[in-house]
Amino acid sequence: MSTRTPITVAYGDGIGPEIMEATLRILNAAGAQLDIETIEIGEKVYLRGIKDGIEPKAWDSLLRTRVFLKAPITTPQGGGYKSLNVTTRKALGLYANVRPCISYAPYIATAHPKMDVVIVRENEEDLYAGIEHRQTQEVYQCLKLITRPGCERIIRYAFEYARENNRKRVSLFVKDNIMKMTDGIMHKVFDEIARQYPDIENDHYIIDIGAARLADTPEMFDVIVTLNLYGDIISDIAAQIAGSVGLAGTSNIGNSCSMFEAIHGSAPTIAGQDIANPSGLILASVMMLVHIGQHDIASLVHNAWLKTIEDGVHTADIKDTHNFGKKVGTHEFANSVIDRLGQKPLVFAEMNYKPAEAPASSYVPVASIQVEQFKELMGVDVFIDLAKVRPQSLGDSLKELESKDLPLTFISNRGIKVYPGGLAETVCSDHWRVRFLSPDKSVSHHEILKLLQRIVDSGYDVIKTENLYHFDGQPGFSGSH
Ligand code: NAD
Repeated sequence: MSTRTPITVAYGDGIGPEIMEATLRILNAAGAQLDIETIEIGEKVYLRGIKDGIEPKAWDSLLRTRVFLKAPITTPQGGGYKSLNVTTRKALGLYANVRPCISYAPYIATAHPKMDVVIVRENEEDLYAGIEHRQTQEVYQCLKLITRPGCERIIRYAFEYARENNRKRVSLFVKDNIMKMTDGIMHKVFDEIARQYPDIENDHYIIDIGAARLADTPEMFDVIVTLNLYGDIISDIAAQIAGSVGLAGTSNIGNSCSMFEAIHGSAPTIAGQDIANPSGLILASVMMLVHIGQHDIASLVHNAWLKTIEDGVHTADIKDTHNFGKKVGTHEFANSVIDRLGQKPLVFAEMNYKPAEAPASSYVPVASIQVEQFKELMGVDVFIDLAKVRPQSLGDSLKELESKDLPLTFISNRGIKVYPGGLAETVCSDHWRVRFLSPDKSVSHHEILKLLQRIVDSGYDVIKTENLYHFDGQPGFSGSH
């Protein structure tokens, strides 16, 4: 019976074919047991008019092998093309993006020689849902959606990853001092799950100071778990300060599918010249080998790569700290790694991947164990488009439309309360939030519809409404500043 693992490979665009060829040659020489299916993605596919850059039949291969080694692609500018990465992540449910950012001092120049950070980024939620609207002449919105199961999944993955990889600490980066509900639920779930991992330390940073510390003193961090947008930003900062974006690989992990790639793009200006650094894709392929259970081959390739770097055999993009090294092209770099298969690094720690008892990648998220909470409708925020109006006069006329059960409690503009009261200095847009909230008992949807009917009949442009709910008596909505 074949023990080969089927994988899907895409050569991509720009430097993609060169670095993929180099990587696969190394994997082959190392004895990786792979059955490779090749698919076409990227620029040529986009230019054939396929908006997400992937042929429909390529999904068959991805769904068959469930393991994707992907070279970078070029996304044509303009023309409404969709990001292939975003499509692939969402279509295959790749909820965790894992990016190790490690410095290789003294061989590769870096201001942070002891840096060894892994960023675990939530990959599917947050502002990346792509739900955006223009509501008034002046105002545009993007919905930030965070789910409790999404938080549970990514946080548990981060702790499982830490345990499997002998990491000591998981740090959470969010902004829950401002976004008390969305980032707040991530923090709450983090505290709940952290208690289940007493062997792993945990701490929490507000994203702004956390990012500043990461850029200044990255060696103080071990594993960082964060939401999609924050993770997108800090993982590029971390890779850059580690030494080179050409060096980092990344994995995107889901329940049943996974994707591995270099973090850099297709570098079209250096394509076809045999000068690109294949290291990011080589290290991504090491992550893939660990994921598919070929731990010995992963160690063999990783150690040979570390020895190559130690021996000063570098591609042109690497800033050396030693002058004894040798600059090589893509092909020769791959040959140098192949020549060192079986050798161990002398200065860097030797890699020795072992199957985990319960690998983080096999962790199957369970549905939230939360008991369903009692949900009561308490009121409504009505958003109105109106330009050139004073808050006091808007408030006074809307107040006449309230009912006993749904009194107008306040109006805010861009989150600042402007009625009742408010300061003349507050600059108002044409986008007003008018809150009608029951003081004590729940209300029906019909009462809210009647209120809306009165508002619309009075000539107001209602651009949207948000119902206000209590969950077990606790408000499920923010107040105003
Ligand atoms: P890029 O990462 O391709 O290049 C940035 C700089 O780094 C360039 O100077 C490039 O020459 C250099 N560089 C990148 N990888 C290198 C390597 N392996 N060896 C040596 N030097 C390397 O980013 P970009 O220029 O912003 O984007 C180019 C194209 O890549 C765009 O079409 C973009 O959409 C695409 N892109 C694709 C992915 C992906 O497929 N995952 C990711 C990012 C960008």
